[in-house]
Amino acid sequence: MRTSIATVSLSGSLTEKLTAASRAGFDGVEIFENDLLASPLSPREVRARCADLGLTVDLYQPLRDIEAVPEGEFGRNLRRARHKFELMGELGADTVLVCSSVSPSAVDDDALAARQLSELASLAADFGIRVAYEALAWGRHVSTYDHAWRIVEAAGHPALGTCLDSFHILSRGSDPKGIEDIPGEKIFFLQLADAPLLAMDVLQWSRHYRCFPGQGGFDVAGLVRHVLRTGYDGPLSLEVFNDVFRQAEAGPTAVDARRSLLMLQEAVGVAELPAPVVPTGVAFAELVTPDAEPVSALLGALGFARTARHRSKPVDLWELGEARILVNTGPAARRDGTGLAAIGLESPDPRAAARRAEALLAPVLPRRRAPEDVPLDAVAAPDGTELFFCATGRAPELPDWLADFAAVPHEPAPSPARIDHLALVQPWHQYDEAALFHRAVLGLHAQDSVDVADPYGLLRSRAVTDAGGRVRIALGVGAAPADDTLHAQHIALAVDDVVAAARAFRAAGGAPLPIPGNYHDDLAARYEFPDGELETYRELGILYDRDAGGAFRHCYTRTVGRVFFELVERDPGYRGYGAQNAPVRLAAQHAGRPAR
Ligand code: MG
Ligand code: MG
Repeated sequence: MRTSIATVSLSGSLTEKLTAASRAGFDGVEIFENDLLASPLSPREVRARCADLGLTVDLYQPLRDIEAVPEGEFGRNLRRARHKFELMGELGADTVLVCSSVSPSAVDDDALAARQLSELASLAADFGIRVAYEALAWGRHVSTYDHAWRIVEAAGHPALGTCLDSFHILSRGSDPKGIEDIPGEKIFFLQLADAPLLAMDVLQWSRHYRCFPGQGGFDVAGLVRHVLRTGYDGPLSLEVFNDVFRQAEAGPTAVDARRSLLMLQEAVGVAELPAPVVPTGVAFAELVTPDAEPVSALLGALGFARTARHRSKPVDLWELGEARILVNTGPAARRDGTGLAAIGLESPDPRAAARRAEALLAPVLPRRRAPEDVPLDAVAAPDGTELFFCATGRAPELPDWLADFAAVPHEPAPSPARIDHLALVQPWHQYDEAALFHRAVLGLHAQDSVDVADPYGLLRSRAVTDAGGRVRIALGVGAAPADDTLHAQHIALAVDDVVAAARAFRAAGGAPLPIPGNYHDDLAARYEFPDGELETYRELGILYDRDAGGAFRHCYTRTVGRVFFELVERDPGYRGYGAQNAPVRLAAQHAGRPAR
């Protein structure tokens, strides 16, 4: 099916929007009137630009408050419409959108609405244009799709059809099943948007919080299935008003938009993508750092041993049980400082995983970073984190990244551990995109988003995980561009006994994050602990959480660069990440850092 996007969904000038839509692979655009009015390009030039970019102009929406109005007003509306139809000829657009009236002078008279829309359609037909009538969820007298359809049906004009908009339908809680009663050829256009489930005024909800399908709480795919059963064969078009997308760069937003449509098309069975290959574990986490010393000291205190060195690059492998950390002191580190730059994911089929990622528009990284490297499949996540699809220990059938490393003499690591979760900081405008990316590309599930109070802002965090909890990635973001999200990136190590691990860390000279006594006083009020246990937590800075599935005990190291470690002891049934304790952790981290 053809795909389209409304220019209002993207930021920038009309030219920038068109370029972004074309690069992301859309077939067409809906041109929003304000975008044309503000453009120095004439309608003919816009048409030519679209043609150059391989885009059709699928819809134009210059008309408001047209129908069910007194005759004098309707006469003026027709005059305005004639002007716009002439312009549409130059623009190369053959479908005009007419939203249900919100005018105070509109009357509640379906017969009048039908007669006037029919007259408008007659005029449009003279210009070779079709009129698509859409019920706004806040329309004055027409606010549901079935009502708009009844008026279109009554008008009975071949150049008059309806436009369905998933937001207007689903935000009102209308049952989309009734769409199947509309003949497909009378559905002139389909606009798609999702939205988070919010209890708020529907107009504000629509104008500010729409998002791409799969990023909110609506069953957009379910609605599209009903539409497809009518035989509709027009474009799937995204019309998304969103405060964040308005500010973010058009290029990545258009890619995010197209990825959401690909997922939707896959869900409704009109596009075939390579099947998801869900990762089965974390092979490694790669830290980049300009200065190996503090990172090595931290890893050493945690019990990691330096076990191997890359054969051709300044990269060390550190291991503790099943947890592997690469420490890269190469050029990237000198540019960006200490941070978490790459994740190796164990994959049942690395090549197939990369093919899926590529089909979903993830940038594919060169298979060999240097001529002598083992060829690995890798893609970049929206935040720039490199994701490697690994087959650790499965050579010679599959390339094994470990073959790039030569063992160095070391003491065996004392205690078992593995990576429990990784927490990544997302750019503030890519939160929804990040969750959709990890679901789509890696086949992970997104858990609910949680808000966490920070002394200087608000963090939002959402984990993506596989069904078995072997891969858990927490995607965090500050709520405003200026937020300090310095303390969101971390590597959590699962240990069998967090008390023993915390003691060993201290004994080895590690610097734990101190937790205020008030926190433990509150714990005493909330939970009953065996004698002495809470005192131990207080002494070691251990935090505690519990859900229906069990308990979670965890503590933190101080931050090095932009990264810190967490030690966690997780009861098998506990599903969370100690979000309840995050405000205390964030405050402690702010208190412990040098003054700005
Ligand atoms: Mg709409
Ligand atoms: Mg954590």
